Amino acid sequence: MERKRILVTGGAGFVGSHLCERLLKQENDVICIDNLFTGRKDNIRHLMKNPYFEFIRHDITEPLYVEVDEIYNLACPASPVHYQYDPIKTGKTSVLGALHSLGLAKRCHARILQASTSEVYGDPEFHPQPESYRGCVNPIGVRACYDEGKRMAETLFFDYHRQHGVDIKIIRIFNTYGPHMSLNDGRVISNFIVQALNNSDITIYGNGTQTRSFCYVNDLVEGMIRMMESRENFTGPVNLGNPEEFTMLELAERIIKMTDSKSRIVYKPLPEDDPRQRRPMVDLAFKELGWKPTVGLEEGLRKTILYFKNQLI
Ligand code: NAD
Ligand code: UDP
Repeated sequence: MERKRILVTGGAGFVGSHLCERLLKQENDVICIDNLFTGRKDNIRHLMKNPYFEFIRHDITEPLYVEVDEIYNLACPASPVHYQYDPIKTGKTSVLGALHSLGLAKRCHARILQASTSEVYGDPEFHPQPESYRGCVNPIGVRACYDEGKRMAETLFFDYHRQHGVDIKIIRIFNTYGPHMSLNDGRVISNFIVQALNNSDITIYGNGTQTRSFCYVNDLVEGMIRMMESRENFTGPVNLGNPEEFTMLELAERIIKMTDSKSRIVYKPLPEDDPRQRRPMVDLAFKELGWKPTVGLEEGLRKTILYFKNQLI
């Protein structure tokens, strides 16, 4: 059997590194490109000795010429702290990154999957969020570089599909966590775990009643691969996430308990445009992909806490 040549943009990041590992296990030939803005060589160090793995330091805002059969487009900082650090660059990464990846897919006749986000729903007026919901995004707010960038990327995917027949797949990822997140990632689960393990203050933004639904990374990667392999003409978008919903206060208390931490909870100002609630409807993923999450919060947190403990040694 011929190995598929698969490009993963953003492959040295948190999700991308798990995806590369899974694709290599399935005996594919994997090219990982990354500019290492939030990604790290440490995330892919264990893959470097595999002759079917290639790492190219490349910025997706520049075109890329390789020959591939499939493309997973993940390049884009995902943590609010990192995507707001240089918002213009974030916009370029989303939009030019989508254009360059789509151009490559068109030339190579490759199937291409876009890692979109629940952020396309903004601060949602409907709960839980189905794929048909068009969202409530502030186009001029501090999160817009990411939210609108990802929305524009979805638009480009559909226009390449309609205009050039490119074989597209779009997933909308809801908050995902697990090993390979950076200590300074800035997203809530990594912040709370690192703070709890250091017995330092746990920073809740706002009053902690806002909700999120957390998906363990292995479940997400399974959904991504199933989506890539889904029937022709099923473009999505399809939500991938875990519908168990928690307040940030519940999350903080659970992490303090699981780590036996002496940390206190402190309250900080709520960031601008912070969504109040978020929970995916995953019926479409189940119907089309036979996918549903299998790892609950307790089990996923246990594995993630162990990972961060080792990072802090
Ligand atoms: P991450 O920040 O760990 O990974 C993003 C990767 O893209 C990093 O390795 C980074 O260095 C790379 N990158 C950034 N800009 C680049 C550029 N211009 N050129 C090349 N590489 C670049 O984040 P993640 O959580 O692994 O997210 C991966 C993808 O999934 C992102 O597209 C993100 O928007 C999407 N997503 C993730 C989540 C989540 O909860 N993890 C939720 C929704 C969507
Ligand atoms: N949050 C928090 N403390 C932190 C980091 C985040 O209370 O140290 C909150 C944040 O305000 C948001 C939720 O946790 O309401 C999830 O934030 P994250 O940055 O992980 O992802 P988002 O879903 O907002 O993109």
